[in-house]
Amino acid sequence: MEFDVVVVGAGLSGSVAAREFAERGKRVLVVERHRHVAGHCHDYRDDAGITVHTYGPHIFHTVDAEVWRYVRRFSEFSSYQHRVLSYADGNLVPFPINRLTINQVFGLALSSEEVAAFLEAEREASDLPETSANYRDAVVAQVGERLYAMFFRNYTRKQWNREPEELAPELAGRIPVRTNADTRYFVDPYQGLPLHGYTRLVENLLDHPGISLLLGADWFEAKDFHAPLTVFTGELDRFFDYRFGKLEYRSLSLDFRTLDVESFQEASVVNYPNDYEWTRITEFKKLTGERSPKTTILYEYPKAEGEPYYVVPSKTNTEMRERYMVEVKRLEEKGSHLFIGRLAEYKYYNMDQAIKSALSKARSVV
Ligand SMILES: Cc1cc2nc3c(=O)[nH]c(=O)nc-3n(C[C@H](O)[C@H](O)[C@H](O)COP(=O)(O)OP(=O)(O)OC[C@H]3O[C@@H](n4cnc5c(N)ncnc54)[C@H](O)[C@@H]3O)c2cc1C
Repeated sequence: MEFDVVVVGAGLSGSVAAREFAERGKRVLVVERHRHVAGHCHDYRDDAGITVHTYGPHIFHTVDAEVWRYVRRFSEFSSYQHRVLSYADGNLVPFPINRLTINQVFGLALSSEEVAAFLEAEREASDLPETSANYRDAVVAQVGERLYAMFFRNYTRKQWNREPEELAPELAGRIPVRTNADTRYFVDPYQGLPLHGYTRLVENLLDHPGISLLLGADWFEAKDFHAPLTVFTGELDRFFDYRFGKLEYRSLSLDFRTLDVESFQEASVVNYPNDYEWTRITEFKKLTGERSPKTTILYEYPKAEGEPYYVVPSKTNTEMRERYMVEVKRLEEKGSHLFIGRLAEYKYYNMDQAIKSALSKARSVV
């Protein structure tokens, strides 16, 4: 069969792009190396009847009304609002840092106005250079040394296996610090989880007469699909045969356990910045609201090798990415290829950003 477009990868990026082309009358083939669709946001119902996220907890949140409208064409969403607790000095406290966190960890009873002054005093009492040159400085410049040590220093070491001083200041971004008592993890106006799961949402995206799906096929090993346009959502460096070197990713060991108890912890996600080897524990039924006499939890252990999870924002990787992106631009300008998504652009995307970028790139072509 002849195709107009071959899409490599059935994650969110590839599936949104495939849908866009199909809706404009193109015949699209989607090739996916896994035996399931949805890429990193894949989920499934386990033996305890609880929907678990195969590659770690995924919460949909966006400020973009168009993306929110778009995803709700393919699934209804729950009104779940994400809340995270952090295990600090033996206590569970709300995270990101807000008025309640500060009052709890320092045994205070500050008002919102007083929290702002408290943070200012924390920053002033900290050892800080004129300009923040690394991740440590960037965080301390926002919350001061004591909160940095409590919530960020060791978490960062666990997550990246690097000293915070070795990481780029941009990684800190704007650390959300709230002077009010809003304990939500995200304050985006639109948030929730797809009622029937992310896998179903992606299946619905791909459910179009113009889309054919081939699962369990690695495009590099079965490249005989010729089409005027290839949309690539796999690893950037692999596409170019590692010409400029291998881009580094941080990976995770995921340890799922089903326990014979109804409830395991107080929140859907508990972070462990300092204690234990794991970075966080997720209890899935608290994300989905499903009922079961059992519960399924997930321990996450960061590691260097394995399934690529997070791009590593080091100088070497950033420079290497730039060199690959020159080649990408060349192919995209020729009109033969599009590179979309977290792997193909070597860029951290939240799901809403991945969707937005796939929509805009696909629409720029059709
Ligand atoms: C631990 C973790 C937690 C996250 N939590 C959130 C969250 O809470 N909220 C949020 O908004 N975002 C979250 N994200 C980000 C989210 O996972 C991504 O935005 C989204 O999955 C990106 O989709 P994608 O299609 O670009 O990439 P992917 O999902 O990786 O899809 C790429 C697909 O291409 C396939 N592929 C690659 N190479 C080939 C090949 N050669 N042949 C065939 N197929 C190939 C892959 O198998 C994969 O299915 C999280 C990410 C991680 C790692």
